[in-house]
Amino acid sequence: MLNIAFIAHDRKKDEMVNFITAYEPVFEGHKLYSTGTTGKRIMDNTKLEIHRFMSGPLGGDQQIGAMVAENKMDLIIFLRDPLMAQPHEPDIIALLRLCDVQGIPVATNIATAELLVRALDRGDFAWRELVHKYKPEA
Ligand code: PGA
Repeated sequence: MLNIAFIAHDRKKDEMVNFITAYEPVFEGHKLYSTGTTGKRIMDNTKLEIHRFMSGPLGGDQQIGAMVAENKMDLIIFLRDPLMAQPHEPDIIALLRLCDVQGIPVATNIATAELLVRALDRGDFAWRELVHKYKPEA
């Protein structure tokens, strides 16, 4: 069981819901997280249970980032809107930076998200289970 997070900016939320709906069976059985509104939209349209953090602009990206900093998040699907300025741009950059610090797989567009979900389905991220198992306590 992996920890997976979903974030979608407003104009990407329909795309996210369509994506999750298409791959719902792949995400079942994992522990799912999201920012506030993204998670609500997904839960309204699927049977998935998602732990919803705060809305992105109110700190949701930072809450997910806190899990990344502790190397507890295994995979992030983050559908960004590249054509609209976001009030929480610093939080977005901070989250992506932390993913690079820890080497966490993160998709920022639907094409990469498709590749990662297929890899997830094949079990390509099983190495992340080992990270959890052997993670030294801080
Ligand atoms: P939201 O946050 O899911 O609460 O809309 C995502 C964002 O816009 O950063």
